[in-house]
Amino acid sequence: KRRIGVLTSGGDAPGMNGAVRAVVRMAIHSDCEAYAVYEGYEGLVNGGNMIRQLHWEDVRGWLSRGGTLIGSARCMTFRERAGRMKAAKNMILRGIDALVVCGGDGSLTGADVFRAEWPSLLSDLVAAGELTKEQVEPYTVLNIVGLVGSIDNDLSGTDATIGCYSSLTRICDAVDDVFDTAFSHQRGFVIEVMGRHCGWLALMSAISTGADWLFIPEMPPKEGWEDEMCAMITKNRKDRGKRRTIVIVAEGAQDRQLNKISSSKIKDILTDRLGLDTRTTVLGHTQRGGAACAYDRWLSTLQGVEAVKAVLEQTPQSPVPVITIRENKILRTPLMEAVKLTKDVTEKIQSKQFDAAMDMRDAEFKE
Ligand code: ATP
Repeated sequence: KRRIGVLTSGGDAPGMNGAVRAVVRMAIHSDCEAYAVYEGYEGLVNGGNMIRQLHWEDVRGWLSRGGTLIGSARCMTFRERAGRMKAAKNMILRGIDALVVCGGDGSLTGADVFRAEWPSLLSDLVAAGELTKEQVEPYTVLNIVGLVGSIDNDLSGTDATIGCYSSLTRICDAVDDVFDTAFSHQRGFVIEVMGRHCGWLALMSAISTGADWLFIPEMPPKEGWEDEMCAMITKNRKDRGKRRTIVIVAEGAQDRQLNKISSSKIKDILTDRLGLDTRTTVLGHTQRGGAACAYDRWLSTLQGVEAVKAVLEQTPQSPVPVITIRENKILRTPLMEAVKLTKDVTEKIQSKQFDAAMDMRDAEFKE
């Protein structure tokens, strides 16, 4: 029987367990065997009992479990060719020549590198006497398929990543909780949310909670933003009678000179200029935890099923696909195209070409 491995890598995200469950069950349904690789690429490099077969009932109840039950890690050794050689050897010893990787753009780039190197890794293993020619012969091609697991929704080419809507839901719940105390005491709250280079979580939570002001990395505020923000908040409070003030800041927020805009800086502005009793709340890792929301449960299930189909249909010539969702359709997109687009936007932002970065995001949206 064909053996398909599945691993989760990079930051954990709600829905990763749903993805693993779907891959395991679809693999079994397709008359294959499913193997979980524990602790991301670490498990692949170390082998042994870090690669274990999973059966249908082993993943029962996983849809509602947060985090990733097969573990995730940032694995430095897999970044080196020597580490990837060990990984290749472990896979061949287990008879695994297909891998579904659920992670962020780093994990997916690693998967692409691994696949491209696979034939040369095998010949090096044979040359070094680690494996025989006969052992490697049945495994000339490595089939890899990517799933995007990330709360940040930071991969271009997909409308949503597995985990982003669960995280958004948790942020909205946290802001609602803060609303109550902000309203009661007529306070201001500056709330910092995750997302690294991507402002999706901040933007969507600001819209969803009716925040007064928002900072995201893609659209740094123009000079004089402090006055503008204070004027808007004063208007909302004085003219419109708003009792609570909420400012949402993405963790990667910056000004046009690429200086970080921190939540404490905004708190100081609101306190000093407006005399507003202001508190900061950094939501931190609560945004990652907890059970997956319904969206992430079905997204991870449909994408996990599609990933196994893509593994079974892959040809040696086809580029590594990543499973995406666009306009509610589950699709296969060339992985490195999506990674490149993502990097291009980040580079534009880092080289202060903010309008160009926004145009790229817009173009993707309109496509
Ligand atoms: P997140 O978005 O949560 O950070 P990520 O997948 O982008 O997730 P990374 O830390 O960038 O997280 O990558 C996870 C792991 O993938 C790394 O620890 C490493 O093992 C592997 N990896 C990343 N980039 C490469 C690469 N260029 N070559 C080989 N392996 C890589």
